[in-house]
Amino acid sequence: MAARSGKTKHIFVTGGVVSSLGKGLTAASLALLLQRRGYRVKMQKLDPYLNVDPGTMSPYQHGEVYVTVDGAETDLDLGHYERFGGVICNRNSNYTSGSIYRTVICREREGGYLGKTVQVIPHITDEIKTAIRSLDADDVDIAITEIGGTVGDIESLPFLEAIRQFRHEIGRQNGLFIHLTLVPYIKAAGEMKTKPSQQSVGILRTIGIIPDILICRCEHPMTDEHKAKLALFCDVDLNKVIEEKDVDHTIYEVPLELARQDVDVYLLEMLNLHVNPLKLDDWRAMVDTLIHPENGTVEIAVVGKYISLKDAYKSIYESLTHGGIASSVKVEVRMVESEDIEKSGAEALLKGVAGILVPGGFGDRGIEGKIKAIEYARTSKIPFFGICLGMQCATIEYARNVCGMKDANSTEFNPATSFPVIDMMVEQKKVTEKGGTMRLGAYPCRVIAGTKASQAYGKTDIHERHRHRYEFNNKYRDQMTKQGFVFSGICVERDLVEIVELKDHPWFMACQFHPEFQSTALNAHPLFREFVSASVKNRAKTDLKRTKK
Ligand code: GLN
Repeated sequence: MAARSGKTKHIFVTGGVVSSLGKGLTAASLALLLQRRGYRVKMQKLDPYLNVDPGTMSPYQHGEVYVTVDGAETDLDLGHYERFGGVICNRNSNYTSGSIYRTVICREREGGYLGKTVQVIPHITDEIKTAIRSLDADDVDIAITEIGGTVGDIESLPFLEAIRQFRHEIGRQNGLFIHLTLVPYIKAAGEMKTKPSQQSVGILRTIGIIPDILICRCEHPMTDEHKAKLALFCDVDLNKVIEEKDVDHTIYEVPLELARQDVDVYLLEMLNLHVNPLKLDDWRAMVDTLIHPENGTVEIAVVGKYISLKDAYKSIYESLTHGGIASSVKVEVRMVESEDIEKSGAEALLKGVAGILVPGGFGDRGIEGKIKAIEYARTSKIPFFGICLGMQCATIEYARNVCGMKDANSTEFNPATSFPVIDMMVEQKKVTEKGGTMRLGAYPCRVIAGTKASQAYGKTDIHERHRHRYEFNNKYRDQMTKQGFVFSGICVERDLVEIVELKDHPWFMACQFHPEFQSTALNAHPLFREFVSASVKNRAKTDLKRTKK
């Protein structure tokens, strides 16, 4: 057995039959359970596509790009990892085929392979193993690595070979395989079918991987007969065929469902780790609040440009849910395409909502609709929350409609504007490559005393994550301050505007950073918490139905 730097044990999660089964959610749920049994867990996603990271991909292709504290643009599954287990991710938490190949090819160009033929095996697989090993540390008991894609894809083969080798090297008691698969219900036959899962495990076995645990995604409960069949044909212990049925209410139920079937116990036993008691009371209470909120329902509009795709604003939707938990209210999101507002007007599409949120984005499509939505929120005194591009649009709206700068704009949308209230950051002007070059990751921000932002945070020094190239243009700070625009958060060392708000409004706040990357189910981000709370207060004015206590 190869020497290992620490005592870190490894769990590998693969997916079969189809994509979108919720591997990330399942992996994150397992991380939570292991943590709640007293273990320190780190997580990682290995994605088989060739982009070096998802930062250059359209949200339509890939959903949200999740930004880590250290400024990596990563897969949205890392959001689940942080939101569920409080596992803090970093650059080592997401590798792609592109990033692995880039490292190998650069090393080859530097002459690092000393004349050898560079090949997928061993050079690419070795590099993948190095990526996995980057999670080994004295303060990490268990590392969970999720392999993106579906078993059977050509592009995931090097990753599967690498984890097979890795487990061989560390030994069975230090590493195990979980396969997440689909057990579909065929309506016409009135039956659930195990064949696709058998075939998926069959493919894994030809690669040399026999799963230790099979987690079956299904719409209906599985019978003992189904489980026995899968156990027999997939060579998995009967009690390790686990059912992961669609949850009734919320994704935060998934860990409870897995715990009910003792998956965490099996994992620890197989890894030869002590099974400490499971402490989940706070999680259960949180899920109970979500399912039975005391204060009914509040409807909040999200006005964006990628509304048709659920995953594009994943962390925003989750953070709204977290804000709802803090107010014991169910947040219902009204998804509004900003381009539709351009056609029908803000009131027609936003009437009745208790709060309005404008999230981040790039490019000019739908911008004028967002600005109209913000004007509507400002003038109708509806709680408003703007994030990144949403903050930039709020600034443009105020400059145009209150400060009289008629064609105020961001130079991203109109380079010839007479009032570039939002402009490209100085250091961005020399940037030529698109990938990984924005202002990325966590930066400090000073919250100004006496503001609503300071009330929300309850402290002056905060750190928030960024992903943008443009910023507020300080040339307009004095003028806009005089006209009532409040600058309530500043990155002091660079004098950058990070938070703006309005005084004579129930709750109008916008930030240049992305607070949604730091909100968790058990600890809602202060700005989301306060936004939802302000929306609940505003709800009396709306025609919303209340659910019973
Ligand atoms: N497009 C804007 C910028 O680059 C906003 C980015 C964002 O919303 N993440 O500054």
